Amino acid sequence: MKKLLIIGNWKLNNNKKIILDFCKKLNSYLSTINYDHHLKISIAPPILHLETFNLILQQLHNNHISLTAQNIDVNILGSFTGETSISMLQEIENIKYVIVGHSERRIHHNETKELIAKKFKLVKSFKLIPILCIGETKEEKNANKAQKICKEQIDTIIQLVGYQAFDKAIIAYEPIWAIGSNQSASTNYIQYMHQFIRHYISRYDINISKKLIIQYGGSVNKKNALEILSVKDVNGVLIGNSSLDCDQFIDIIKCTKLIKY
Ligand code: PEP
Repeated sequence: MKKLLIIGNWKLNNNKKIILDFCKKLNSYLSTINYDHHLKISIAPPILHLETFNLILQQLHNNHISLTAQNIDVNILGSFTGETSISMLQEIENIKYVIVGHSERRIHHNETKELIAKKFKLVKSFKLIPILCIGETKEEKNANKAQKICKEQIDTIIQLVGYQAFDKAIIAYEPIWAIGSNQSASTNYIQYMHQFIRHYISRYDINISKKLIIQYGGSVNKKNALEILSVKDVNGVLIGNSSLDCDQFIDIIKCTKLIKY
């Protein structure tokens, strides 16, 4: 049985009322199923709502849902107006993961590979788990450069932190052209890219590569989740739009029970 990590990335969406309803519904669904430790569920609300989310989870005596931060600043403290630091996040009990290098941050906030590598290093040093998002644009895919781009994105991390950094880290392969497009990558293409990523890490360390969780992200929904989660080298999904609606998110979780091994 492979490990599966399902994360809902809410981006800049949802409010306190929705969080309460969402948590109650998701928590009550998860407490009815035979929840096994191969499956992990996490939500990445906007940073401002992490504390509220955490308090609600505590009130519900939740032990199934963890929290993910969508981003952190590269500095730990100081004169950095508007930023949130990893040490502040670490104080929130249920936080387990931090997304680094999401394509929306690379594109809209001009985050470079080097900056992303520094954030990755910071997350590791605070004993949280980084989720490194990598992926190519449509143009890069058409030019047959998808693997080269992903390799470069991984290499910047290895250069700064060493390949050991991928022990207890996660890679989310998210082709930029599939994000928010309603058109996920085909399962053949997903396996082709995930296999490449795992193989690339195995050149450094076979054990790290075997244990590495590689999520797929890009227009996952309740209709395509089962086939995507069934892809050999897929260990979970990072979900944007379809995670905003609790019923749909639950339907995606239900798919994990239908995977044939
Ligand atoms: C994302 O932005 O990480 C993502 C996968 O979004 P969506 O599911 O909406 O394509």
